[in-house]
Amino acid sequence: MKEINIHTHSPVEMIDITAAVSKAVKEENVRDGYCIVFTTHTTAAVTINENADPDVPRDIISALEKAVPQNASYRHSEGNSPAHVKSSLVGASETVLIENGRLVLGTWQSIFFCEFDGPRTRKAFIKTING
Ligand code: ZN
Repeated sequence: MKEINIHTHSPVEMIDITAAVSKAVKEENVRDGYCIVFTTHTTAAVTINENADPDVPRDIISALEKAVPQNASYRHSEGNSPAHVKSSLVGASETVLIENGRLVLGTWQSIFFCEFDGPRTRKAFIKTING
């Protein structure tokens, strides 16, 4: 299993980690199989979407902000309930196929680490499976 560290710079941010995942997969020497990209945080997430147009991640963040208001009747005393809700909506992991040693991603697809309670130093884990 590989670990990557991600330094986030804003309260809410989507960071393209495709290159880091690709590097980790190459180091594991798997030609055909799949990898799971997983984050162990409860106020962050992993997703796949377009990064060719930077307005796509901006729009995703903006839609999540509207769907999960900053001020509502949240009970969690830490005060970061919106970040927990967004984390569950987006999800903690993605599975990506590997063919001929490369990630199978569409032309416009990137793997994003989603920060919802930053800035912080975060971790994501990449487990590569042969098959
Ligand atoms: Zn919390």
